[in-house]
Amino acid sequence: MNDFTAPPLLQPALQLDAIRAQFPILGEVIHGKRLAYLDNAATTQKPEAVLHALDDYYRHANANVHRAVHELAARATTRYEAARDRIAAFFNTAREQIVFTRGTTESINLVARSFLQPRLQPGDEVLVTGMEHHSNIVPWQLAGAKTVAAPVLDDGSLDLDAWRALLSPRTRLVAVVQVSNSLGTINPIAEMVAEAKARGIPVLVDGAQAIAHTQVDLATLGADFYCCSAHKAYGPTGFGMLWARREHLEAMQPWQGGGDMIRTVSFGGSTWNEVPYKFEAGTPDISGAIGFAAALDWISGVGLAAIAAHEHELLEYGTEALMGIPGLRLIGTAADKAGILSFVLDQAHPHDVGSILDQEGVAVRTGHHCTMPLMERFGVPATVRASLAVYNGRDDIDQLAAALKKAARLLS
Ligand code: PMP
Repeated sequence: MNDFTAPPLLQPALQLDAIRAQFPILGEVIHGKRLAYLDNAATTQKPEAVLHALDDYYRHANANVHRAVHELAARATTRYEAARDRIAAFFNTAREQIVFTRGTTESINLVARSFLQPRLQPGDEVLVTGMEHHSNIVPWQLAGAKTVAAPVLDDGSLDLDAWRALLSPRTRLVAVVQVSNSLGTINPIAEMVAEAKARGIPVLVDGAQAIAHTQVDLATLGADFYCCSAHKAYGPTGFGMLWARREHLEAMQPWQGGGDMIRTVSFGGSTWNEVPYKFEAGTPDISGAIGFAAALDWISGVGLAAIAAHEHELLEYGTEALMGIPGLRLIGTAADKAGILSFVLDQAHPHDVGSILDQEGVAVRTGHHCTMPLMERFGVPATVRASLAVYNGRDDIDQLAAALKKAARLLS
């Protein structure tokens, strides 16, 4: 009798070909070349499951939600609210704590207007980090707060001691990016949340670059607010969510007024709908919610552990490949890093590099990536950024490296 049992796989292997086959856009031919799509931190491509969910909604269920009694309105409302349940389940939280927004940017603006601004005293600060996206800086300034930034070390990691020293009685809120879109640095948010909360300071986490790459459990994170965008996680553009502690949502006044967010309206005054609806004025992006839920289901189907392992392996492969290119300087080499490779090439302007890469079928982003203070910190106006997703493989990295060698030759 054979009593041998195979040891369980530590990580389920990812079937790259099968995954790619689900993204029709990856078959596009760009300037006669195979597409190597490495601009995933800007936005990811969408799998058939998401395309189908959007298409099916518009073909079979399109109507406005929450208002009419007819069958299509019932279908739309059922799909829309079921999407909220699926999204809440993905993040291990309650549906009432999920406010649908246009994305991370709108979520942060909502917190700035409805939570921060009414609590601000003169001299109050929001403690951010030197690697924040503009959307985690400007809304606090617009609300009237002073933004104080904890410094970034040379490897692109956060100077945690300096961050700690900047927590003060004036700190009204801590706002921190979970994964830097420019460097890939993964911040120790659990530790930061715990330290800020121990001092009674609320914490907002910008999860825009995190949710497609790592499991986020909102029940245990301990933060006060969490923001993300569907389009960076294989979902549609212009849709996202704000998660918040229920007591904050109950206490906060709505930011925008209009249909759906009210309970009663009269010329003498109005009263608000229950959470989360009191923050969702106007006709929502119904297909956005349905598409986001489909995207998160798709991610769960592949498995975040397998996705993370695949992207990590590719990041290591890519780092080595890029370090072999003469004149290339990688910016952001923190020990704890997600799949982002930011770099400059000698004296060549990143935009020129990006244009040559495009001619070779390689899609990357060039610019300041909405992190101007971070570019200043590293003394560069812009970088070239290659960012990874689950459908990328070594062939994409090889194509990038070959195109970069060509760019280095042409631009030297
Ligand atoms: N924060 C980070 C870290 C981001 O990468 C982005 C998108 N580049 C945003 C916030 C803003 O997201 P959105 O444009 O979807 O609102």
